[in-house]
Amino acid sequence: MPAMQILTGLTVAVMGGDAREVTLVECLADVGATVKTFGLPVKGPNIIPCPEPEGCLIGVQALILPVPGVNEQMELSSAYLKTKPKINGELLSLLPAGTPVLVGVARKPLRELLEKNALEPVELMELDEVAIPNSIPSAEGAVQMAMERLPITIHGANAMVLGFGRTGQTMAQLLSNMHANTTVVARDPAQLARASAMGLKALHFKELVDYLRDVDVIFNTIPAPVISGEILQRLPSATLIIDLASAPGGTDFLKARELGIEAVLAPGLPGKVAPKTAGMILARVVPGILLQKIGH
Ligand code: NAP
Repeated sequence: MPAMQILTGLTVAVMGGDAREVTLVECLADVGATVKTFGLPVKGPNIIPCPEPEGCLIGVQALILPVPGVNEQMELSSAYLKTKPKINGELLSLLPAGTPVLVGVARKPLRELLEKNALEPVELMELDEVAIPNSIPSAEGAVQMAMERLPITIHGANAMVLGFGRTGQTMAQLLSNMHANTTVVARDPAQLARASAMGLKALHFKELVDYLRDVDVIFNTIPAPVISGEILQRLPSATLIIDLASAPGGTDFLKARELGIEAVLAPGLPGKVAPKTAGMILARVVPGILLQKIGH
């Protein structure tokens, strides 16, 4: 069945990105948007590849940046460009004030630049309708990493999940479904009660130090320094830590190395392990946001 042409008449720019943005561009074009692209290997009806970022921005009503946005040097995240252009005020001045700029995560320098140019940031990863489905490839990817590194099965392993938000809940549920002895560690009594109601062991952070002796694997989802030297010192040296929290993660990685504990920061798992799914998650949400922000 052909897709409903809900974005007909709308022109958007998609700059940089990876396989997720390729899927997103195809879906946006499929529902009638004219999509100007820069740095993406995607062709088709309604898709206009642009050789320069400037040309990509002219005449568009919204800009979509890659999920990771830009790096500290303000370079556009891109899997396909050898030379990554910098996103600066001059480039963004090509967009009229008030233009929505959709991005997975807007770090402080990008947020400040968008504000300076009177553009409207929309952080997609902040939205539950993106973050919750995205937690599925994140959790699957984290389990995959653990399976590749552990000498034991997930089944029967003593696993801890730190944090019980959108990622932590899916992570703990997946581990439990795989018959790991799963303990959730959180600070919010309501989250602990929910974990307990789901049949998981629940532990307040205050109690954590007393429960570290038999841990095989820790999955951290808390973007704060929660796996400190004190915690690390009490862990068996064979414990594996998969840290999913956004950079720099929640682990004292230097201390872990000193103690011979394997700790791995695991950013951007959905884009790595399931780019098609991750692109579809964006494609389900972005048309609605565009209609809401721009309408016609
Ligand atoms: P979320 O829904 O906000 O959940 C965050 C959890 O961390 C909550 O349980 C929260 O508890 C807890 N927390 C935050 N600060 C804390 C602190 N100082 N001490 C103790 N607990 C604290 O966030 P999310 O969507 O699950 O994302 C979690 C992290 O994973 C983010 O950094 C996100 O960028 C990252 N992420 C990574 C990947 C990947 O591929 N690696 C994929 C998706 C997300 P309270 O409610 O008590 O604050």
